[in-house]
Amino acid sequence: MDHFHYKNDLLNCEDVPVSELAKQYGTPLYVYSQRTLLHHLAQLQRAFAAVDPLICYSVKTNGNLHICKLMAEHGSGFDVTSGGELYRALKAGVTGEKIVFAGVGKTAAEFRYALEVGVKMFNVESDAELHALGEVAGSVGKVASVALRVNPALPPKTHVKTDTSVKGTKFGLDIDSILEVAQGVADNRKLRVCGLHMHLGSPILSAQPYREGVEKGLVLIDRLRKQGHPIETINMGGGFGIHYRKQEAPPADAFAEVIVPAVKQAGCKLVLEPGRFIVGNAGILVSRVIYTKDSGGRHFIIQDAAMNDLIRPTLYDSFHRIWPVAPASGFPAPPDDYEAEIPGTVKNDVVGPVCESGDFLAKDRRLPPVQPDDLLATFSAGAYGMAMASNYNSRPRAAEVLVDGKNHRLIRRRETFEDLVRPEIEV
Ligand SMILES: *Cc1c(COP(=O)(O)O)cnc(C)c1O
Repeated sequence: MDHFHYKNDLLNCEDVPVSELAKQYGTPLYVYSQRTLLHHLAQLQRAFAAVDPLICYSVKTNGNLHICKLMAEHGSGFDVTSGGELYRALKAGVTGEKIVFAGVGKTAAEFRYALEVGVKMFNVESDAELHALGEVAGSVGKVASVALRVNPALPPKTHVKTDTSVKGTKFGLDIDSILEVAQGVADNRKLRVCGLHMHLGSPILSAQPYREGVEKGLVLIDRLRKQGHPIETINMGGGFGIHYRKQEAPPADAFAEVIVPAVKQAGCKLVLEPGRFIVGNAGILVSRVIYTKDSGGRHFIIQDAAMNDLIRPTLYDSFHRIWPVAPASGFPAPPDDYEAEIPGTVKNDVVGPVCESGDFLAKDRRLPPVQPDDLLATFSAGAYGMAMASNYNSRPRAAEVLVDGKNHRLIRRRETFEDLVRPEIEV
C-alpha cells in the first residue's frame, strides 16, 4: 500500500497535489511519502515481531539523511556497505550497536573506522577479508564481531545483475568451503564469529528462496557451533520484492512465515536488511515533458528526467509504472493492473535528454496522450533511484522532497552548475 492517489484527476502524494510540488521545487523531482515509508517499516516490524528482530535499513537503497533519520527515530538500525554509508548511518543518529557492515571489498581504513565506532557486526565475505579484519582488530586492540556471509548456491531467482546467491557470483563465502574458512579462525581471539549472514538478491517475489536459504543456514549454524563458534545471530539480508507492475509482491507475513520458525529453531537473534521494501514504493520521480516526436515508426516522449536520474530501466531492464500527473480529459488514473489496455492510449518510448540510446525510462509504453509541459510520474522510484543518480552529461542532480500529510519540505536541494565543478581542482 502507498499514499500516491489520484483525486479529481490529479495525482496527490498524501494530501499534496504533485503539480504543486513540481511548481514549487521544479523538475525532475523525487517526491517521497513519509506515511508510506513508516507504514512499510511497521509492516516488517509487525510481521517479524515474534522474534524481536533488529531491522537494519539498507542505506545504499536511499541514503538521504532525512530518510535515514526517520528510520532511526522509528527503531531501525542500518545496513551499510561502505565507509561513506557508515558515516551517513551515524549522522542519522544511531550508535554502532545498530549498524551491520556488508560488502566484498572492505578496506583496512573502513575496518578501523567501523571498529572505532563499534559496529555490531561485520558481514564477512571471503577468507582473505576475515584474516585482514583480524589483523586490523589486533592492531587497534579490539575484537571484531563477525557474521560469515554464505552464498547458499540457490537457483536463479531475479535479474542476473541483482541475483547474489547463485553459484559463481562475487558475493559471500562458497557454501562448500565456508566451514573450512570458519575452522581456520576457530582459535583467532581477535575475531568473534557469532553470526551467519545471507542476502539472496533483489527483488525477490516469493518466499521460496528464503525457505531454501534458511534450511541450508540451519545446517551451517549447527556445524559452526560444533567448531566452537558461538553463533547467536542469523541475518537474512533484504531483497523482499515490491509491486512494480501490479500487486505482484507477497506481504511481509509471507517471508516471516518461513524465516521466523527457523530463527526460533536455531535459538538465534534475527537481523534483517530491507531497503527496497521500505522505500521503493514510497517515492516517485516527477518529470516534465519537453517535446514529443515521431521517428523511425516510433513515438517518443522526451522529458526532463534521464538515465542519470533513474538508471534502473537501462541498467536492469526494470519496469516502472509511468502515468501523467494530470491525465488528459477522459483518461482514468492508472489501473491497479497497470498492464491492462486502456482504449485511446498509444505506445511511446519515454526518454530523457542524455546522449545515449540507452537513456530511457520506458519503451513501448501505452500512455494517454501528452503535450509539452505536461507532468509525468514514474512510480516505485524511491529505491535505487536518487541513490544511483549521477552527473552524467553535466546534469545537476534532482531535488528531493518529503511529504507528510499536508506538509512538505525539501530534503535535498537541486544541484547547481557550480556544484558540478566544485570538487575539481581549480584551473
Ligand atoms: C542491497 C542489499 C540489501 C538491500 O536489498 P533490498 O532488496 O533493497 O532489500 C541488503 N543487504 C545487502 C547485503 C545488500 O547488498
